[in-house]
Amino acid sequence: VTRGERLAKLVAERELDMLFVSDLVNVRYLTGFTGTNGACLVGADGGLIFFTDFRYTERAEREVGPEWERPEAERELIPQIVAKMRGRVGFEDAKLSVRQLARLEAAAGEGIDLVPAGDLVEQLRAMKEPEEIERIAAAAELADDIYRWALEGGLVGKTERDVARACEARIRELGAEPSFPPIVAGGANGALPHAEPEEREIGPGEMVVFDMGVQLDGYCSDCTRTFATGEPGDEAREVYDLVLTAQLAALGAIRAGATGQEVDAVARKMIAEAGYGDHFGHGLGHGVGLEVHEGPRLATTSEDELREGNVVTVEPGVYLPGRFGVRIEDLVGLTVDGYRNLSGLSKDFQIVD
Ligand code: ZN
Ligand code: ZN
Repeated sequence: VTRGERLAKLVAERELDMLFVSDLVNVRYLTGFTGTNGACLVGADGGLIFFTDFRYTERAEREVGPEWERPEAERELIPQIVAKMRGRVGFEDAKLSVRQLARLEAAAGEGIDLVPAGDLVEQLRAMKEPEEIERIAAAAELADDIYRWALEGGLVGKTERDVARACEARIRELGAEPSFPPIVAGGANGALPHAEPEEREIGPGEMVVFDMGVQLDGYCSDCTRTFATGEPGDEAREVYDLVLTAQLAALGAIRAGATGQEVDAVARKMIAEAGYGDHFGHGLGHGVGLEVHEGPRLATTSEDELREGNVVTVEPGVYLPGRFGVRIEDLVGLTVDGYRNLSGLSKDFQIVD
């Protein structure tokens, strides 16, 4: 069953005649197209139409599967797309801009009813095919290699930005892209959950939060480790043990059928019981795929049910303002009876000079 066919079923279930897919990541997922101007219509009856402009005709010929009808490309997509629309047409309301919607509505004739219908393609994307999991695993493995390379070079005496920039350059040298700008945050900077690397030198005896992912062949990875640059003291070691214990417990709760809220609660409860409940201010994890943040979510408010084929991060953290932070993040793929951990780096407390 192709992705287009699976989507057609969802479109029918939503009682739509068609879905207009305008988000480029979703277009890529469905059709294979990697250009920067493309869209598609997926009919409840299984009709699949792909649109791009004349600049991308050759690329579309190479990339887009034969199951997609490809009308002759013109300069303007909207009139062409609207000409193929009929009945109740869902659009991706989380992604389509207000301006784009206004243009569609102006061009759409009588008998076309545009209705918000977000997240249908995202639902499919959350359930990875075996081949997609292999690609994510390859991205994760490459990131592991870059971590090892960066640690060999040492941390103390370099600025956070130096380390982050060197990793970015290394990622590109190896034929990939960063899936987000790497985070290298030592000492008090590491206590900010969304810290950015600063022009500050990493000193001895700090905790350094190091969060990095690569995008390889379109698929992302995401991994965090926290290293000590020399003996960081008793509390830092205790917090490290706590975060690791909570992370392992949450991994133990990962299974098809559990909700994102349930798995989040396992780690959150342990951290709260140790007295650090106010210092774990973000969700436990998120899905990863063509984008580094996608569904399902592991968080206090998440009703998402985990299913075989999901690829999610498990990343509890404790952040002590003005002092230090610890986060440990693995990337795992859900299987029938458990999960496969795609992150290969050790999580033992590690001192790096
Ligand atoms: Zn991360
Ligand atoms: Zn993450």
